[in-house]
Amino acid sequence: MQNIDLFKEQISSASSKKIVITTHHKPDADALGSSLALASYLKKKGHQVNVITPSDYPVFLHWMKGNDEVINYEDPGQLERAEKLIAEAEIIFCLDFSCLSRLQKMEGSVRQSKAFMVNIDHHQEPEDFADFSYCSTDAAATCELMYDLMVKVGDRDLIDKDIAECLYSGIMTDTGGFRHPNTTKNVHLVTAELIDLGADNSKIARLIYDTYSVNRLKFLGFALTRRLTILPELNTAYIAISKKDLRKYQSQTGDTEGLVNYALSLDGIKVAALFTERKDGVKISFRSAEDVSVNKFAAKYFNGGGHKNASGGTSNVPLEETIERFKELIKENKQILFNQLELVDEKNQ
Ligand code: 5GP
Ligand code: MN
Repeated sequence: MQNIDLFKEQISSASSKKIVITTHHKPDADALGSSLALASYLKKKGHQVNVITPSDYPVFLHWMKGNDEVINYEDPGQLERAEKLIAEAEIIFCLDFSCLSRLQKMEGSVRQSKAFMVNIDHHQEPEDFADFSYCSTDAAATCELMYDLMVKVGDRDLIDKDIAECLYSGIMTDTGGFRHPNTTKNVHLVTAELIDLGADNSKIARLIYDTYSVNRLKFLGFALTRRLTILPELNTAYIAISKKDLRKYQSQTGDTEGLVNYALSLDGIKVAALFTERKDGVKISFRSAEDVSVNKFAAKYFNGGGHKNASGGTSNVPLEETIERFKELIKENKQILFNQLELVDEKNQ
């Protein structure tokens, strides 16, 4: 945590600033919710604000206020404008990620910027790139930190229904619907405040969790019946989805979201993984129960990271090979993972 007065001065209404807000590749509700909440808030303070995401994001987030103005860096038609805004920005906010590599193709332009850099985040091991950071791994969500920060600078009054709904969404999803161990007393206190400020909690849950397309629901059924493997002796279960599967079910961004949790919902399973074959490699989501730390596992073997019970990574070898490697590493680390010891070095490295 750093000097709040410095931050307050930067965002003061005294002079209108050019501000860019960005977040990680394939934004989730916490990433997009914190970005759009901050954008609405800073606009109220008189700034010129643009949200630029490194990629598209799920349709079940499109209801959020400000969605229509978001610039997608991966859209060739918007690239030039995005580059200009980044180059001219006086302040750049980086939300819900701790290292700039999570911006993917946008990383270089943001790194080159001379803007005042702000990082608001709840991931582990932040890269030291910001002039002001408001980061805590104790927070369940970036949206929780965002609420705290707005209150700390004395702007609770500026939080309207739209802002409250964006913030509520991020906290709801990053706590797995208030179920994960990160669901603290503060989480409940903040969400109570957000409801007080107008967030319609039941409507938000429905918009995010209960707006499946028919294809997505059928894809879920297919994934659970045909693509789930259970390794009871390793307290592990995984789902592997190929490019062909995604094509067959006309999968859209967001359709695999939450799928990994079904593997973790099995009795006795403490580690769950979802492997999704993409054009640029295999994306992996890890989830764990209790004291098993999947973030260290993701960081050591799969070029990733995240939180103790929810993390992700990537693999550059084919899907089948990735799965074999995963199984081998879980087997080798079984005692270690479940007893939180140091992970072993990979044999053939
Ligand atoms: P998800 O599985 O939902 O994509 O991600 C779960 C968590 O892991 C999120 O907090 C996300 O930020 C983090 N995460 C996912 N993929 C990566 C990755 O490639 N690198 C790092 N460092 N974190 C990731
Ligand atoms: Mn988050």
